[in-house]
Amino acid sequence: MALFSCILCGSAIPDEIGDPEKKWQKEYRAIYSHPTGYSVTGVGCNGDDWSWIPPSDPAKRWDDDDSNVQLFELPVMRKVPIDGLHGFVVHNACWMLLRRAWGPEDVRVDRLVEICRSIPFPIGTDGLGWQHRYGGLLFLETQDYFPWQEILSLPDLDELPLVVWDAFKNPWDVQNMREILLSCAKPQPVRGTDKTSHDCFSRLPWELREAIAVLLPTADALALRQASVSFLPLLSSSTFWASRFTGNRERDFVFEMHGCQDPTDWLDLYRITSQKSGPPGLRNRCRIWNITKMLIEIVRLERNECLTSTIEQTVAPSWSQVTGDINFDGFETSWKPFRRGCFSLRTIIVPVPCRLLKIGVSTINVGTTSYVTGLRFVADSTPDALIGYISSSETFFTLQELFGFKVAVAPSGLTALQIVGKNGHSSQWIGCLSDVPSSERLIRSQPIKSVTVRLDGFKLVGLGVASPDVISEQDLGTADPPLRETALWYPNKPPNELHLNESSFTGQNPFHTGYRPLIWIRFGGQRGSDLKRIVGLAVQQVPHRLYSLEFLYEGICRSSSSKLGRIRHEAITPGPMFTIDGIGGELITSIAVHVEKDKRPGARDFLRHGLLKCFKVTTNRGREFQSNLACNHPEMRLLPITPGTTITGFYASQNDKGGLISLGVISESL
Ligand SMILES: [Zn+2]
Ligand SMILES: [Zn+2]
Repeated sequence: MALFSCILCGSAIPDEIGDPEKKWQKEYRAIYSHPTGYSVTGVGCNGDDWSWIPPSDPAKRWDDDDSNVQLFELPVMRKVPIDGLHGFVVHNACWMLLRRAWGPEDVRVDRLVEICRSIPFPIGTDGLGWQHRYGGLLFLETQDYFPWQEILSLPDLDELPLVVWDAFKNPWDVQNMREILLSCAKPQPVRGTDKTSHDCFSRLPWELREAIAVLLPTADALALRQASVSFLPLLSSSTFWASRFTGNRERDFVFEMHGCQDPTDWLDLYRITSQKSGPPGLRNRCRIWNITKMLIEIVRLERNECLTSTIEQTVAPSWSQVTGDINFDGFETSWKPFRRGCFSLRTIIVPVPCRLLKIGVSTINVGTTSYVTGLRFVADSTPDALIGYISSSETFFTLQELFGFKVAVAPSGLTALQIVGKNGHSSQWIGCLSDVPSSERLIRSQPIKSVTVRLDGFKLVGLGVASPDVISEQDLGTADPPLRETALWYPNKPPNELHLNESSFTGQNPFHTGYRPLIWIRFGGQRGSDLKRIVGLAVQQVPHRLYSLEFLYEGICRSSSSKLGRIRHEAITPGPMFTIDGIGGELITSIAVHVEKDKRPGARDFLRHGLLKCFKVTTNRGREFQSNLACNHPEMRLLPITPGTTITGFYASQNDKGGLISLGVISESL
């Protein structure tokens, strides 16, 4: 039967288990959608049934001694929905943790399902590809892929981290928990000194000093104790140490102690429930508890229901947009599991209010990154316009007229943005910018009248502005698309002193490419300082495909900044290397390419615009190097550069299967 992992903790829900201690892993529930709404199932047990058949009644268990237990077959996880029926599986133990962290009200199963539907099922893993990576159960591939590609993988079997072993331990019913709690069921002793010397804090009664410490993170409170003798008795304070076990403090996952009034040595308990000293099951609980709290915060994002969805066709083509790697539009197609990127659940067009005062940007933290979840337009004398999902961390920027946005976007959605007002006056980056491609495509020279927002179950997956100066497909080839301003660039927008030689770029207008960042390298270094150290150019290729170009230097270690393109190594044998005598003054002076177009209707967009098949470099010594010598091509096309400049870099777009699919030349005046 298909093996899947729990949407909360990320470890498997196996069908067979020898070790009775791991039996808890087989018991699961599913949250699911059905034609009339959303529900949670009873407790099922993963057996040899080839399918997932939990009880439909949430109050029932698979092993109830009751002939009325109704079991039903449910397509779950990456199985496709059948007539609107589809679910996500969670260990029963993890569900109990979620219930505990949630509080007394009913869990919002509808929102949970909608959020899970917004997460891809990465190839090579058994479950949802959350960017929190389950606190260490999944890894981000950065060796063979760019970090922004969001390629997740399982850890190496030879070097399994501790967290993987802990994940087998029951997080709800922690082994030895009773003994641990019993050992601390005694009054807290006086530790160290309870006498205070005098400093400014000593003028406050002890209860007030204690109340100050309770508000601080533990590390800060202990630092305060070091700095001020008035806080020396803190180690003996039951009030302070007990507060560490309450809501949102670092030991709140020891929920057995919530509301405990019995005499307790809280400091001792604090120590023996630490990551270092606590039992593995408690470590596992702590990990899942933190994930759960993050998820609850996402579920509790305030969703604005007033603004209605817009048919996608009304948005294109007079809008320019920046989007994640959108698999399908929920307006046209019903949801189905996808492997990477995101899907667009709804599209909303919002007019920018005339008397704008400020714009709020909502973000949410998902462990390793953050996402932009919503926008708020605040205007004079009209109610706020709320767009998307409003979070508890909202950042405001004051402006009278909106001239656009700078946007950082990963395949899964918008991770950060910068609001641009009049005269280029702009906000700080709001959100998480690191290792994500960014674009200035949404900046205009005139105030923007309306914006379009595309959303999935909890975040922005696209942002657009109505745009009079959009470039149409007809312009392609007749006018140079201003690539620097319109493309999605990684690692960032190339500085102005670099010539991009747009007219010879073999790729297509970035307005029409969907999610396809342009990656660039400056192999010449700052102002050509590394040109004299170049010893060679290495190429990774298979016939008719070019996967990467990498420059090698004398006295400079290999670094990511000298390699254009990423691909997993095993697939491709190391290609030929072209030696370049940079030390002796040899320079690349021209680039020619062989591009093949497939104009048949239905061909992938990059094939219609031309796929890079091979390329040729020529140096100032008349030496030539051609990749894919076997390629049977007609004459190659020269990529001209601005006269008087020297070639010092390349830019390209890449595709998983096609490798480098386009090429542009960067040159500068040296
Ligand atoms: Zn779980
Ligand atoms: Zn060729």
